[in-house]
Amino acid sequence: AVEVVGAHKSYAGREVLRGIDLAVRPGEVTVVIGPSGSGKSTLLRAVNHLEKLDRGHVSINGELLGVRRHRGRLKELPEREILAQRRRIGFVFQGFNLFPHLSVLDNVAAAPVASGQLGRPAARELARELLDRVGLGDKVDAYPRQLSGGQQQRVAIARALAQQPGVILFDEPTSALDPELVGEVLAVIQALATGGTTLVVVTHEIGFAREVADTVVFLDDGRIVEQGPPAQVLDRPQHQRTRDFLRAVL
Ligand code: ATP
Ligand code: MG
Repeated sequence: AVEVVGAHKSYAGREVLRGIDLAVRPGEVTVVIGPSGSGKSTLLRAVNHLEKLDRGHVSINGELLGVRRHRGRLKELPEREILAQRRRIGFVFQGFNLFPHLSVLDNVAAAPVASGQLGRPAARELARELLDRVGLGDKVDAYPRQLSGGQQQRVAIARALAQQPGVILFDEPTSALDPELVGEVLAVIQALATGGTTLVVVTHEIGFAREVADTVVFLDDGRIVEQGPPAQVLDRPQHQRTRDFLRAVL
């Protein structure tokens, strides 16, 4: 489970997250929608501790992120422990950020080897299995530049899975793709959702949200305006801002 409590974050005196409370239960899929600049990426980056909150906290399975309680106060964790926590959270973003000089197989196998989670042979075996799962079993020896954008993004998903994280965060995973490649990536994410992986997905793909989300969260100007099941937020939005946004993207 992911829990965000009272999250505040400012950049240069401008508040970008203005008190976010969010709970993602294990095995659930939360889709975050909202206008550009509303704070969606900042929120995901805070969940992955790439961004430090000014106030509030994030916990993953009850464990506070980046801090520990010590004699009733919060104390920063050493960098090494933050890295260990971050490995338990998969992150897939818009760009694919694959290593160009590594084969597809090694791109996926690299992380669990580097972190000492798995030895090389076991990591490669896992990588093969995961690449099969995202439909790329025949591309293990290819290099990223030999793949389409959709295929590269599926490698990035397999790579996130290789760390065997408890939750995977997606930040607009299809927005850099040609339209005809969007479906294959969403299908892989949908399969993860069906398989019970905990997911938080920022996307403008409202159809995907409707089909896959347990909860849709509409973020505007650093606040959650409304959240609930897709049938509620997407089809019977309570707030004018949500209606305006949906009218603009649909
Ligand atoms: P988009 O849909 O365009 O990706 P978003 O909802 O993901 O938008 P964020 O990237 O979270 O929005 O940004 C929220 C606000 O914070 C924006 O106004 C942005 O300019 C600002 N911002 C984000 N990162 C930084 C940073 N590192 N330094 C300063 N301002 C930032
Ligand atoms: Mg963003």
